[in-house]
Amino acid sequence: MSEKSDAVKANVTLEKLVSLSRRRGFVFQSSEIYGGQSGAWDYGPLGVELKKNIQQVWWKEMTQMHDNIVGLDAAILMHPKVWSASGHVENFTDPLVECKKCKGRFRADHIDLKGPCPTCGSRDTLGEPRKFNLMFTTHIGPVEETSSLIYLRPETAQGIFVNFKNVVASSRVKVPFGIAQVGKAFRNEIVTKAFIFRTAEFEQMEMQFFINPKEEPKWFEYWKQSRIDYYSNKLGIAPEHLRFHQHGKDELAHYAINAFDIEFLFPMGWQELEGIHSRSDYDLRRHQEFSGDKQEYLDQEAQERFIPYVIETSAGLTRSVLMVLTDAYEEETLGEGDVRTVMHFHPNLAPVKVAVMPVVKKDGLLELAQELEKSLRDDFTTMLEPTGNIGKNYRRQDEIGTPYCVTVDYQTKDDQTVTIRYRDSMKQERIKISELSNFIRNNIRNYRRGQ
Ligand code: ATP
Repeated sequence: MSEKSDAVKANVTLEKLVSLSRRRGFVFQSSEIYGGQSGAWDYGPLGVELKKNIQQVWWKEMTQMHDNIVGLDAAILMHPKVWSASGHVENFTDPLVECKKCKGRFRADHIDLKGPCPTCGSRDTLGEPRKFNLMFTTHIGPVEETSSLIYLRPETAQGIFVNFKNVVASSRVKVPFGIAQVGKAFRNEIVTKAFIFRTAEFEQMEMQFFINPKEEPKWFEYWKQSRIDYYSNKLGIAPEHLRFHQHGKDELAHYAINAFDIEFLFPMGWQELEGIHSRSDYDLRRHQEFSGDKQEYLDQEAQERFIPYVIETSAGLTRSVLMVLTDAYEEETLGEGDVRTVMHFHPNLAPVKVAVMPVVKKDGLLELAQELEKSLRDDFTTMLEPTGNIGKNYRRQDEIGTPYCVTVDYQTKDDQTVTIRYRDSMKQERIKISELSNFIRNNIRNYRRGQ
């Protein structure tokens, strides 16, 4: 299975993912009827479910599976001084290069500066790199003046740092502990590209883990390993499509003393999915300096006072959607000229868990299927396929990654059994309706790709 799916993986292109996403309602271009807005995408009926599921698995992993991590939902708009303190006003820049001929704009670190212009091919037309700040600005209140300038947050992390003391004072947490947050972030990227990979508006899932500085090496290693294991164990991503990349000295962000990216094999090649950053006490110390509010922590047992160090795990939620789409996609050859497109989503992530369908529409079977579908709604996200065309229904559901199809037929009337058909193996078996919910629940818990 894995050998085959790897061979097929080579055929996963962004074009195929964009086309399937649009056709089946995962992702649409923003403002499409006006010609589209670059750098922004809309999540359709299936995409919003997929994105929410990815978020929920992450949230559970952080806040429910760890007894020392709590959640937060901070505002997107923050006091502008936050971004001076964090270093973003001064340092959150990319090197911008412009072609004098075609006016094309590029990130200097993404192109060969000695080579021809990547767009028009002209030689010696690329200008000198200049710093370009990635933060979006806007104004708060009715008058547009310098004093009303405000930023759209470029990362969710600062909302966590400025609430560090609030969380310590209002809950039982003790260092080492973490604060987790999911939310929108905005970056005026020089080039937005690769579908939902790099966009101006995106979502992050960030967790800041506050520690005693002496324990930095131990926790950095813990989070590095824990985060890479998470992708294969909890999201079902093939381990061979994940790897680490350690930041060299010239790559380190202004706040980092050590950083590893978790990279995924996207259709465009290996690219960053999540950053594990050792941020020292940079952020809390800077906020202490800029606000005048002490950000120290008192360890009651050791009678020790310190500004905690922070290990950050920073993952893209919208970028994770692209990873999950890429990893799940397969074009499987079943016979001469017969290819089925199937999304092998982990059932925890699948937008629809169970599709229920009658083998024919007549003789009361449609009504039976409707009834059964309704009875499963409390336990799973479900969908009714009412047409009575089983073969077509299976293919439609394979393409949106529904792991279980349940078919109601004439025998159902006699003995209250149905067939359950597995998406990956296409195997079928008969099962009592009374056992269906528990059966599916157990199956999801023990899911292995290919079953
Ligand atoms: P890059 O160097 O590629 O611009 P970065 O290293 O600045 O990215 P981080 O600041 O570490 O990225 O952001 C953490 C995570 O947020 C990234 O791993 C990525 O998943 C996500 N992310 C960052 N920028 C974008 C973007 N423009 N669009 C979508 N996701 C993004």
